Amino acid sequence: MACTIRRVDYANPSPRPHQEFGPYDGRDLAETVGHASPIDLDAIERELSDVELALARLDDGTYGRCEVCSAVIDDSVLVDLPAIRRCPAHL
Ligand SMILES: [Zn+2]
Repeated sequence: MACTIRRVDYANPSPRPHQEFGPYDGRDLAETVGHASPIDLDAIERELSDVELALARLDDGTYGRCEVCSAVIDDSVLVDLPAIRRCPAHL
């Protein structure tokens, strides 16, 4: 079954609101439709590192304590930010 991809140009809807691309040719769909959002690999790596550090703190019994002053971090903060490493005074 053939599939036709159309680009809708919302910024310039006339005189040609649609651009016909014809049958899908296997190109990356996001590239084809022009709505690709960049993937921030650095942010993903930082988040993964934070999670790994949190798991290490669980193993060594320091999870939920500030890495600077050892104060207990409130549970409500940990629920929202489970990988947080410092109390509010040391952020
Ligand atoms: Zn602290």
